[in-house]
Amino acid sequence: MTDIKYQLFIDGQWTDPSGGEWFDTEEPYTGRRWAQIPRCTEHDVDRAVGAAHRAFTEGEWPAMSATQRGHVLRRLGDLLREHGEALARVEARDNGTRISEAVPQFRYLPEWLYYYGGLADKIEGAVIPNDVPEIFNYTCYEPLGVVAAITPWNSPVMLLLWKLAPALAAGNTLVVKPSEHASASTLEFMKLVEAAGVPPGVVNVVTGFAAEAGAPLVVHPLVAKVTFTGSEPGGRAVNRAAAGELKRVTLELGGKSPQLVFADADLDNAVNGVISGIFLSNGQTCVAGSRLLLHEAVHDAFLEKLGAALAGLKMGDPGDAATQLGPIANRPQFEKIIAYLDIAREEGARALIGGARSMRPGTADGYFVEPTVFSGVTPAMRITREEIFGPVLAALRFATDEEAVALANDSPYGLAAGVWTQNLRRAHRVAQRLQAGTVYVNTYRAVSVTSPAGGYKCSGIGRENGAEMIKDYLQTKSVWVSTAEKIPNPLTV
Ligand code: NAD
Repeated sequence: MTDIKYQLFIDGQWTDPSGGEWFDTEEPYTGRRWAQIPRCTEHDVDRAVGAAHRAFTEGEWPAMSATQRGHVLRRLGDLLREHGEALARVEARDNGTRISEAVPQFRYLPEWLYYYGGLADKIEGAVIPNDVPEIFNYTCYEPLGVVAAITPWNSPVMLLLWKLAPALAAGNTLVVKPSEHASASTLEFMKLVEAAGVPPGVVNVVTGFAAEAGAPLVVHPLVAKVTFTGSEPGGRAVNRAAAGELKRVTLELGGKSPQLVFADADLDNAVNGVISGIFLSNGQTCVAGSRLLLHEAVHDAFLEKLGAALAGLKMGDPGDAATQLGPIANRPQFEKIIAYLDIAREEGARALIGGARSMRPGTADGYFVEPTVFSGVTPAMRITREEIFGPVLAALRFATDEEAVALANDSPYGLAAGVWTQNLRRAHRVAQRLQAGTVYVNTYRAVSVTSPAGGYKCSGIGRENGAEMIKDYLQTKSVWVSTAEKIPNPLTV
């Protein structure tokens, strides 16, 4: 079968990259190339930003009312509902997400377009009381301009929608830079953007590498805001570059999220919650619950139950609905995880479960790692402090609530945390003391368009989702209107 050769989407047109170069994208299940992605240069970025800026300042988009923009977003939501499964298959092929996770995720994605589409015409300014005589003062909200949306490879379309839906609802235009490891589903999604009647130039995609396409996008003079989801080092680089140009930023970065299992937890529920936190999507989610803090009274029993639950899982083709564990998304990520398994052993941790690449039949060609649980872990070890972004769990032990909270907060990150207890008072007390943008109590990894998500500390700046977040894509204008018949000469009074 011949590879698919993608084009860029700029100014409503499918176009080749100006340098005439493409790069390969692999299927992580087989390690084989399946598509070619345009390799953008600064010139393509300039074309895309120029188109987005024209679309912001002239033509159909700025002439539309907020209500009309809402209709466009809802139309796009309807198309996504219709074609979501096909898009989920493209994404699963490109980044190895199991089809049984990808399809339900895509089924929910239209909600972002319905929610923010509905919100578009409900952003109200205020009449401001003030003590200046004969003045009528009101505020209104206006879009920022061109927004650069930079996304990672783990859930490209979902994380794009977290940005695209509020940005467009607010009246901005967009240039999207998906990850070089998984660009295909974003490009396929542009076919729906086109079909929904989003005017040309309102959404544009440049594909390629961080240095060649991402970096010039961040500093482009016509970009007003950068919204970035990715690694902490990537976020730091983007933040530094954007600060130099006085651009607004939203950063959704990594994590090392703790799951706290207290002695009074329902252990069976907690085991399932811990599995969902670190083994669903192979731990390649920003909120991966990668640190397991176990009360000493349940430490051994919990690990025994966890081991039993992980035994005999079916690993293999992510496109097969019966597969329970798929491949790691790409080769560099696979190599990073394997390196951390060696680091863990060198630091003295013991692999209680897994701890190596998979040698199971049918996994030899792909990037498969055994689900891994390390015990004998200390707070200072690198596997406790650094984000691995893989199916690797570091188990630690605690004796008191104080110690549990201290261990949980002893991290440069603060994206999420899980609390497992049947004691209501403990649940609330601990939830309030955890330094994390999202705290789950007796559940894990839930997400909703209605609820803000984002990080404390090095996990990011700003939030996404929820009604309030649309203001991140708007700026406030204060309008002063005199109601006085005469304006006195200020030099003579
Ligand atoms: P990454 O930082 O390597 O890349 C993310 C995107 O940024 C890619 O498109 C990349 O090309 C681009 N990029 C990187 N450096 C850049 C720079 N200096 N200038 C401009 N663009 C640049 O991250 P990744 O490996 O693709 O994704 C995994 C990371 O994403 C993990 O750390 C994970 O925790 C994080 N993540 C966070 C969230 C969240 O909501 N907090 C969600 C998903 C993933």
